[in-house]
Amino acid sequence: MPRWSPDPASPSTEILIVGAGIAGLVLALELHDAGIGCRVYEAVPEVGAVGVGINLLPHATRVLHRLGLGEQLGQVAVVTRESVFFNRFGQLIYREPAGRHAGYDHPQYSIHRGDLQALLLAAVRERLGHDAVVLGHRCVRAEQDEHGVTAHFTGPGGDDLPSVRARALVACDGIHSALRKQLHPDEGEPRYSGINMWRGVTKGRPFLSGASMVRAGWIDRGKLVAYPIRNLPDGDQLLNWVVEIQTPRHLQRDWNRRGHLEDFIGAFEDWHFDWLDVPAMMRGSQTVLEYPMVDQDPLDHWSVGRITLLGDAAHPMVPRGSNGAGQAILDARALRNHLSTAPDPMSALRAYEAERLPATAQVVLANRSMPPDVIIHEVWQRTGDRPFDSIDDVIKVEELAEISQRYKEIAGFSAEALRTDH
Ligand SMILES: Cc1cc2nc3c(=O)[nH]c(=O)nc-3n(C[C@H](O)[C@H](O)[C@H](O)COP(=O)(O)OP(=O)(O)OC[C@H]3O[C@@H](n4cnc5c(N)ncnc54)[C@H](O)[C@@H]3O)c2cc1C
Repeated sequence: MPRWSPDPASPSTEILIVGAGIAGLVLALELHDAGIGCRVYEAVPEVGAVGVGINLLPHATRVLHRLGLGEQLGQVAVVTRESVFFNRFGQLIYREPAGRHAGYDHPQYSIHRGDLQALLLAAVRERLGHDAVVLGHRCVRAEQDEHGVTAHFTGPGGDDLPSVRARALVACDGIHSALRKQLHPDEGEPRYSGINMWRGVTKGRPFLSGASMVRAGWIDRGKLVAYPIRNLPDGDQLLNWVVEIQTPRHLQRDWNRRGHLEDFIGAFEDWHFDWLDVPAMMRGSQTVLEYPMVDQDPLDHWSVGRITLLGDAAHPMVPRGSNGAGQAILDARALRNHLSTAPDPMSALRAYEAERLPATAQVVLANRSMPPDVIIHEVWQRTGDRPFDSIDDVIKVEELAEISQRYKEIAGFSAEALRTDH
């Protein structure tokens, strides 16, 4: 139970959560677990299986396992076995085990974003009650006074809906956060990294270990990230793939924007490796989505009084380190801890921000400059983008391991950090 006394008139909306994405739903489960009342308000009228694959690293899966979700995750996700790096000729550069296979107490999962969201939504409804998630409510703004916060909503048709009062509001409303815009009206446009992405999901045969996360090639001619996200009953898998190409061409960020195969497949036409036929995999996807690799500079504050930001609303980052969902999950855990121990909600929001803003700012910046794929960049540079006879002639394995380790430390999932941080 929190140290501050709950409002007996409206215990379920002590904390108003805006957005039923990964962040909002994990936060609801955390607060419920801590005995803090909350309710989630989500803009879309129906939660569908949107998005493609995401990865959850051991620092985040530890939180989800503590919430008792390990068994369900194991049923729908692929337990990632290894991370593997190739050049564009299909030559192996480096491989390292992942999650439990690397000695962590918790696994790494590769999972369809829709499967993860559905699993979390079912858990929230089961534990908090069906009405704990209110759909078709787009939060347009919020105002506060000394006793609480009032959130204003519109429905799917743009009509005004009744406002809702709460002790505090947590904006988990993703990259287009209305509350972030309210708190930071003068923030500029997202920062384009110079890399455009195309994504798809294809039913296909397992490749390599059947649970390998592959990064191959480089962005000048085309980089590929591929990994399975669901095991199917017939032995096939859903294979998630993402293409990254350096180009000035990009459109505004929209998770659901349709892309076109012909805009990028040319770069991969000769990628027929003995472990994967890349163009065939790409052609097998029913839908191709296009998304610019953008992020935003870290903010100087997330919280104003009774309102704070969490997840992508707080720290949108380029998806190069498998950390978007993971950092949102860590935020939720931290906020739960502070709301449980602080003397009042406002102090809790301040303490949460003091813990998580600097930590996530480091990840945002590391994803720009030294994500794990620096490994393939390094080899690309040293070989002049040509095949090698032996990787040992190009770079020593210790150097590659060091690059990988550096990112783990910044993102907070080095084995050492997880051993000492309880
Ligand atoms: C449709 C979609 C597809 C995605 N696909 C991928 C993907 O393929 N790969 C990947 O790495 N990441 C993807 N993401 C992002 C990924 O889920 C996040 O980076 C990460 O999980 C952090 O989650 P979040 O809850 O902060 O944000 P999100 O997962 O984006 O969730 C935000 C939620 O808030 C809701 N919302 C937005 N505005 C309002 C409002 N004003 N009022 C109420 N509710 C609001 C949204 O509908 C959504 O449910 C996707 C996100 C979305 C919304």
